[in-house]
Amino acid sequence: MKIYNTATKTKDDFVPLDGNNVKMYACGITVYDDCHIGHARQAIVYDMFSRYLRYRGFNVTYVRNYTDVDDKIIARAKLLGVDAVAYAEQKIVESEQDLKQLNVRDADRKPKVTECIGDIIEFIEGLIARKHAYASKKGDVWFSVKSFPGYGKLSNKDPDQLLEGVRKDLEEGKNDPRDFALWKSAKEGEVFWKSPWGNGRPGWHIECSAMALKNLGATLDIHGGGKDLVFPHHENEIAQSEALTGKPLSRFWTHNGLVTRDGQKMSKSLGNTLTIKDALKKYSAEVIRHAMLSRHYSADVDISDKEFLLSEKSLYYFYNTLNDIDAFLAAHPATAEPLSGIGEVGHTVRDDFISAMDDDFNSSLAISQMYAVCKFANTLMADKKQPKGAVATALAAMRADVREAYAVLGLMQEEPAAFLKAMNLKHLERAGLSEAQVSAMLDERAAAKGRKDYAAADAIRDKLDNLGITVQDSRTGTAWGLKLEVPAD
Ligand SMILES: [Zn+2]
Repeated sequence: MKIYNTATKTKDDFVPLDGNNVKMYACGITVYDDCHIGHARQAIVYDMFSRYLRYRGFNVTYVRNYTDVDDKIIARAKLLGVDAVAYAEQKIVESEQDLKQLNVRDADRKPKVTECIGDIIEFIEGLIARKHAYASKKGDVWFSVKSFPGYGKLSNKDPDQLLEGVRKDLEEGKNDPRDFALWKSAKEGEVFWKSPWGNGRPGWHIECSAMALKNLGATLDIHGGGKDLVFPHHENEIAQSEALTGKPLSRFWTHNGLVTRDGQKMSKSLGNTLTIKDALKKYSAEVIRHAMLSRHYSADVDISDKEFLLSEKSLYYFYNTLNDIDAFLAAHPATAEPLSGIGEVGHTVRDDFISAMDDDFNSSLAISQMYAVCKFANTLMADKKQPKGAVATALAAMRADVREAYAVLGLMQEEPAAFLKAMNLKHLERAGLSEAQVSAMLDERAAAKGRKDYAAADAIRDKLDNLGITVQDSRTGTAWGLKLEVPAD
């Protein structure tokens, strides 16, 4: 399989360093507020990475950290008048609940900064001993950028050019404006830990280097994070880790695209942050996952109601097809006879899925392949010339393959009837209707038809249609479904 590597700027063949074992680290959440849909995207993307690598037979160890002490957390806790560490712990619990609702699987290890202070101090001591870092009188420790010749290699920045345009008024005790903090001396009233340099707390970048080394060793196979972290965060991780160990920090550097909302960056000041909790009130977990994964992980996603409605429409079609397959299978026992004039078609679900995903986790292509799968299934079910038992055999295999492969994306995992029912109810809720009201209208329509008042029956049908509800008559009765319309731009 191939993975795009930010370090080489090419799609490179993925082979782990140690046989079948994959060591993957992704920068996690700074827990100072409710998790929003941007956090969800990053978590869903690396959940998808780990699930797919496992699906391909790799033995994956996935580490994702929590930043549970930093300026934002301290400021927020101060505002609320609560203890910063306890506040962060509460936010970790809430973020895990949110991500669980989105069917994001836990990382194998979830280190927190406050639990790794000793490892971080040891790491910094190693850098000072190797003359890559220095402590100021005030008790801050800085990484010396000029001591690390490869600085800027990930983000393609020339270290000399980084000197231009930076603040020339140096912070107290800092030798070079490019140097960044490894340890920050405690300000009055702030949470702190004891260290050889006095009371203080770690700078942000050092935690990932220390946690990756402790949990996965000197060299990772895959390092991940949002593309806004390439510089300076990942550049600084590389400098710290490689200066200490002399080994490459990661063989593959991967970056997910960012999430905007209605074309704008999500921010507290704009008031347009969409939390996971609020998104889940309107849309199901699979709809949200679909919206995130139907774009390639490296692409930015602009989230709007339209985007979610498009995902609902796709999933509605996919699940309706699965539901029809279930009905077909209930009515027709599978037999061993072959399909007439069709070869192995329908048995390519898994192969097609793998070939899409092997190409840099192309979940966008993998999801679009579901249209071809559904089209084929629908054609087969409608084909009067095919032996029913043979069709049932083909459909059963196809359905099993869909469920197995798309589990990697956390899609197509619900029972079709239950999924459709839940989607119908969500739609009715949005239209301000109850199920009983729809049933009453259908009864009224049946009565009108019974007395051959077709104008009245059609009027009811039109009324339902305007409410986004379609009516299907069949020999077995009348059913209703959704006419999912996505507003035009
Ligand atoms: Zn990091």
